[in-house]
Amino acid sequence: MTRFFPPGSPVAVLTTQPLDRALDYRAPQGGVSEGDFVQVPLGPRLVLGVVWGEAAGDWPVEKLRPIARILDVPPMAQPFRDFLERAGAYTLTPMVAMLRLAMRTPGLGDPPGKRKVYGLGTGQADRKTAARDKVLEVLRDRPTDVFAQSELADRAGVSTGVVKGLIASGAVLEQDVPRDADFPPLDPARAGKPLAPDQQVAADALRTSVATGQYGTTLLKGVTGSGKTEVYLEAVAECLARGRQALVLLPEIALTAEFLKRVEARFGARPAEWHSGVTQAERRRTWRKAAEGQARLIVGARSSLFLPFRDLGLIVVDEEHDTSYKQEDGVLYSARDMSVLRASCEGAQVVLASATPSLETWANVEAGKYSRVDLTSRFGASILPKLATIDMRSEDVPGGRWISPTLKRAMEQRLIDGEQSLIFLNRRGYAPVTLCRACGQQIACHQCDARTVEHRFLKRLMCHQCGETAPMPDACPSCGVEGKLAPVGPGVERMAEEVAGLFPEARLAILSSDLFGSARALKAQVEEIAAGGADIIVGTQLVAKGHNFPLLTLVGVIDADLGLQGSDLRAAERTFQLMRQVSGRAGRAEAPGLALLQTYQPDHPVIRAILSGDEEGFWSAEAAERRAAGVPPYGRMAGIVISDPEAQVAFDLGNALARASSVLADAGAEVYGPAPAPISRIRGRHRVRLLVKAPRQSPLQSALAAWVAQVPVPKSTRLSIDIDPQSF
Ligand code: ADP
Ligand code: ZN
Repeated sequence: MTRFFPPGSPVAVLTTQPLDRALDYRAPQGGVSEGDFVQVPLGPRLVLGVVWGEAAGDWPVEKLRPIARILDVPPMAQPFRDFLERAGAYTLTPMVAMLRLAMRTPGLGDPPGKRKVYGLGTGQADRKTAARDKVLEVLRDRPTDVFAQSELADRAGVSTGVVKGLIASGAVLEQDVPRDADFPPLDPARAGKPLAPDQQVAADALRTSVATGQYGTTLLKGVTGSGKTEVYLEAVAECLARGRQALVLLPEIALTAEFLKRVEARFGARPAEWHSGVTQAERRRTWRKAAEGQARLIVGARSSLFLPFRDLGLIVVDEEHDTSYKQEDGVLYSARDMSVLRASCEGAQVVLASATPSLETWANVEAGKYSRVDLTSRFGASILPKLATIDMRSEDVPGGRWISPTLKRAMEQRLIDGEQSLIFLNRRGYAPVTLCRACGQQIACHQCDARTVEHRFLKRLMCHQCGETAPMPDACPSCGVEGKLAPVGPGVERMAEEVAGLFPEARLAILSSDLFGSARALKAQVEEIAAGGADIIVGTQLVAKGHNFPLLTLVGVIDADLGLQGSDLRAAERTFQLMRQVSGRAGRAEAPGLALLQTYQPDHPVIRAILSGDEEGFWSAEAAERRAAGVPPYGRMAGIVISDPEAQVAFDLGNALARASSVLADAGAEVYGPAPAPISRIRGRHRVRLLVKAPRQSPLQSALAAWVAQVPVPKSTRLSIDIDPQSF
């Protein structure tokens, strides 16, 4: 039951301002309800907030400032508020930060009428000036954005007078923001494709789950091309038919376009989209329509999990194992795990779709917490690719080259047959290391603990930690000697060069995230490849994600051992998943695929498991190791990263925490460290890490909170707690 607070009564309002708790206010005339979006005075300003419940303090009500305004949007539903609280408690994130995730929407609190839509008018600017051109350029770039006049001027870097002048001359039109248009209706009753028998069984199971109207999670497992999307669209249809909303999460914006088309084919209209590539005006519309319940299906990135759905009945997490679902900045959360939490608050179903599920999900299935349905064949009975290793110890490959004679022959055959090959190397750039042959130094980032990577197409050196780039120098930055810098090791651009040398007549395409300025450019390239516009594709992890290339029959993995180095306990799982994903790109019904893995360790257990295809065997072996080590998913972990411009300050805090760890010991947890973090310096800040390991049932969050609260954090220092860190 939503509580109503009559006029004049005290209420708590959670605001998006950096305070650690809700503040008390007086209900305005007409009263307020729990969940209402409001503006409240804070110091001299008005800030956005949500009515969170009864007032917490015991101030006399006359002393409280009144709520200034109730916003004209539907109140935040109780299940969503519960979710924010539970997600905040789980990730140890203050509620204000959680609320900010939920209100990342432009223009929500604006007084009506202040923001306008601007368009290019037919009038001629009476004078052409550089400043006026800048405004016109912004409008040409962002035709659907909504601005206040001052924001438009700021964006263009000019004074508001320039904007006013353009409006007066008719070169720019200013209009009120139109009321957000409804999304076109989706029709769940339209017939989908006739399903294959195993698809039908899976679809029926998902429909039945959705029909319960209660929480539940199902793993939908099947190799790429087995028809999972077709199956979970049936679950979406069931959800829509029951009048509830559905959310589909995709790991990569570039996959959205194809998905939208499939939704359109299935339901007769396109769904709403939510990701960084969507304009502000569109985001605002989607947020509001989600709250009103009018946006029935939303497809988006992980942040769409924080949209204010009115009645969410289904969340699909496609490619659920994908590491990009982990948010690594700001609030640290796993969108996969948070989907399950949100669904349990909403009484909704979750479908986790993957060809190579995470060990976490597999363990939850084993434990009976999740259901599982499998698609056993590729759709249309195409067969899985054949896998083989190439033992690099016995291949004759000249220095500075990486493609073995065996792989080269296989590629030649594809060229003769008019089929495509993919050369896969999970490393961006031209070469991972640039070495000075005069002084022996490797060029490193000046503010990170990382070597800079040569990107030859961009003619720049780039740090993959902080993203900073610099022109490729002629002389060594250390010793100043010219002409002695040499690339060491291969990156995807260097592989492309080698391929071009080996097959000068072949049409070559490179797929690496650095080479595409926009999702649209990437999509165009993907479409061209799919249509046969390339003979050989050289790509990074980007190609492993869900794109369909029907002419591709050979995958050559340059360095299958790459992910196995290092001490990360998830290395085996990651390599296993990635190799299966990549090799799954090859082959289709009429033309079976072949995947060749170049390796120096053909007998490594992970490489063997990949070849044998014995997934269940691999998983149980992995599970046994993790269980023995007491790490996730069988134990709990948290990473505490402390960063400071001074290494000593960071270490001192780490040591102080380590000494104060008796509260953790009481909860059965152990502390490791402090030690330099896996990347010990980023953007000039030194990073120190402590790892905390605890048994499954231990009250980890409360112990962590009590532990960290004991030790004062210096002003210059940042401390972040990562529950369930990606690497450990
Ligand atoms: P996945 O999501 O498992 O990779 P998809 O659902 O994308 O698989 O299916 C792979 C291809 O097979 C797609 O082009 C899809 O349109 C097609 N397909 C899947 N199921 C059917 C079906 N029942 N009838 C016709 N085509 C189908
Ligand atoms: Zn850097």
